[in-house]
Amino acid sequence: MPKRQFKKSQPKTEITKLPGLGMDTGGLKDDFKRYYGNRLGRDENCASLHYAYEAFSLAISDRLIERWKKTYNAYKQADSKMAYYLSMEFLMGRTLSNAMLNLGIDESAKSALYDLGLELEELVENEPDAGLGNGGLGRLAACFIDSCATLQLPVTGYGLRYEYGMFTQLIVNGEQVEKPDHWLRNGNVWEIERLEYKQRIKFGGRTETHVDEFGRKRVSWVDTHDVLAVPFDTPVPGYQNGTVNTLRLWKATATEEFNLDEFNAGDYAESVAAKNTAENITMVLYPNDANENGKALRLKQQYLLASASLQDVLERWIGRHGNDFSQFAAKNCFQLNDTHPSIAVAELMRLLIDVYGLEWYEAWLITRETMAYTNHTLLPEALERWSVSLFRSLLPRLLEIIFQINADFLTEVSARWPGDIDRQRRMSLIEEGHEQHVRMAYLAIVGSFSVNGVAELHSKLLQQGLFRDFYELWPEKFNNKTNGVTPRRWLASCNPDLAELITETIGGGWLTDLTQLKKLEKYADDKAFQKRWQEVRLNAKKRLVDYKKAEHDIDVNLDALFDVQVKRIHEYKRQLLNVLHVIHLYDRIKRGDTANWTSRCVLIGGKAAPGYFMAKRIIKLINNVSEVINNDPMVGDKLKLIFLPNYRVSGMEKICPGADLSEQISTAGKEASGTGNMKFMMNGALTIGTLDGANIEIREEVGDENFFLFGLTEQEVEEARRHYDPVGIIEADEDLKRVMNLLEMRYFNSFEPDIFDPVIASLKSPYDPWMTIADFRSFVDAQRRVEEAYRDQERWTRMSILNCAASGKFSTDRTIADYNNEIWKLTPIPALD
Ligand SMILES: *Cc1c(COP(=O)(O)O)cnc(C)c1O
Repeated sequence: MPKRQFKKSQPKTEITKLPGLGMDTGGLKDDFKRYYGNRLGRDENCASLHYAYEAFSLAISDRLIERWKKTYNAYKQADSKMAYYLSMEFLMGRTLSNAMLNLGIDESAKSALYDLGLELEELVENEPDAGLGNGGLGRLAACFIDSCATLQLPVTGYGLRYEYGMFTQLIVNGEQVEKPDHWLRNGNVWEIERLEYKQRIKFGGRTETHVDEFGRKRVSWVDTHDVLAVPFDTPVPGYQNGTVNTLRLWKATATEEFNLDEFNAGDYAESVAAKNTAENITMVLYPNDANENGKALRLKQQYLLASASLQDVLERWIGRHGNDFSQFAAKNCFQLNDTHPSIAVAELMRLLIDVYGLEWYEAWLITRETMAYTNHTLLPEALERWSVSLFRSLLPRLLEIIFQINADFLTEVSARWPGDIDRQRRMSLIEEGHEQHVRMAYLAIVGSFSVNGVAELHSKLLQQGLFRDFYELWPEKFNNKTNGVTPRRWLASCNPDLAELITETIGGGWLTDLTQLKKLEKYADDKAFQKRWQEVRLNAKKRLVDYKKAEHDIDVNLDALFDVQVKRIHEYKRQLLNVLHVIHLYDRIKRGDTANWTSRCVLIGGKAAPGYFMAKRIIKLINNVSEVINNDPMVGDKLKLIFLPNYRVSGMEKICPGADLSEQISTAGKEASGTGNMKFMMNGALTIGTLDGANIEIREEVGDENFFLFGLTEQEVEEARRHYDPVGIIEADEDLKRVMNLLEMRYFNSFEPDIFDPVIASLKSPYDPWMTIADFRSFVDAQRRVEEAYRDQERWTRMSILNCAASGKFSTDRTIADYNNEIWKLTPIPALD
């Protein structure tokens, strides 16, 4: 594609100069009508709301794009340092509401729609979620780019444009059924395809060594099967500050010449079929959360992301600075979101050496000064390892580079610890054994100047456990960056009534400085304020009930305690512990132990990885228990258990404002941080939780008296593991014994014998890694304290206000400021006007 398309005689600006777009009701209405009638060609005969959504979004999008260019020009003019957030997942959710809020045109947009006879709520609901992520890690990336734009930091998000996002979860007969999520089916008005920035990505082939004209050894990677990566850009607006950053997502397509050979040989159909192979690479998001997968296609995805993004950055660099890389490290920083994109370490080396002719040592210096790595999990099963043979066939040149990095690294290790062969074996980027594997996390550590965990405890455990050897070698690389969430989406936009009450009380400064929520503390005992707080929260509970009514027509008592656990279904997150408690409450009702009863509505939601047997069985158990309890006339509205299907970002936006109690009950030491816990706290829910991940910091902020703590600590878990005897614990605890007895007598599966046997066996196993039984008593006792607190509504409301007031630390604005001050060191650049 030719880069310059203007006539030489005409100044370029003649076609790029545009009149400013009106931000008022009239301007929006005019644009809506023009898009609806002209661009989309619809009229009053069109019954579909989709086109109204599309026309309105296009009008909003225009206003983003206007600011986008100004931001880009400001960055270009400043020629400042840039950072790039490389992530296989961006769990963006919906765009329209957030765009309106951040543009500051909420009010004029509402009145424009009113005049047009349209309902904003209906348009918003028409938008599919951009579900390009699994859970916390992907949502974190989305919150991060929101905060980067709000802080006016020059940061670009790089990811993949999956044709199919996170699957839609249906519940059929109590079981999860996955439906493909073709989120692009009706088009995506928020993205712009930018063919002019496509990149060529190599796969396969072999390497050749030759000597160049200066007598230097050079390597060529030849006979490759190339694909093209085409970028699709989405604007990322900051909060009412004129800045609009970029999320650039790559789509794989076939190269133009892909079919020439076969075409000439007459095999036209065959050659067109090859196009599919190329496009397969970004066809689908792998739906595994906190689990490695090992599939070749996944490695191709990772390499495509790394290579396309690095080539994109280098191409821009060359355009500005020619072949001078002396300032490259001072002006660029790549943040790797988990090990998924860590092949970028080797790819940057390859590009600098093979394409731009740098010496190994020069390239290595640059790489080690530009790469930074964030670890997201301590679970060993999530640490990615790729077989050397797969690497050799798919990315032969990168394997050579990794071997060379490893050789140099092991020399460094043996210089530091001479003769310590075991340490060299432990630290090697190549795991030996029946088959050799590349340890991607180690590649990321060795190639980076910064390695961080995502909560205090997690970062500490990384240093003491998983990455101990590396910490001993380079303690200065290791640091912590406690996660956060963006308060724009997770308070202002999802809970407008509460946001309004807060703003009315303490002013609107909290939207960009969440620590200002502290000012709410002094209203915690104010009766009038408490009353308004209660009203707003009750309305949010109503909205949550309406939301789930679409699926479940179960009568719910709004006075009941809304006890919520929504997150991916995983054994370490212990949805099972929650179910055991629900069964225990049911058992109490059945045996008449209901004095001082607190009505409770337990809501559980989350997706299981399609291949995760136990997680799927847990979903089935929740649904079976729900069926029995909700239909038992003895229970009435004392207790309800409801499974919320298809948990996703837009769901959480309705769920978290309506929760009273937030369940954060992972086995201590297993949840790296958690971010759902922060969304709930911000919206005034109280937490029942273990000392795990960011729960620890939440409790520190809000005070022990406003947090329901239970369970073994991480150290106690490791200690208890050695003599863990769940069967003995069950025998000694009458309540637990009765719960297990109900499960074992197939009370919840009378027509489906055996289906819960694996669940029961895992609970009773002395090797159960999640030690669910060990925390049962402590959990039940903490739930008693919850009930007692909830019965005193004045006390509960006070605690709710104090939780919101103490949530200031958990804004991604703070997290990103920390990343910037300690890792990226970027200068904020205001958008040009
Ligand atoms: C916040 C969020 C998560 C992360 O939840 P955790 O409780 O931290 O595991 C996962 N999925 C969605 C849709 C979210 O919004």
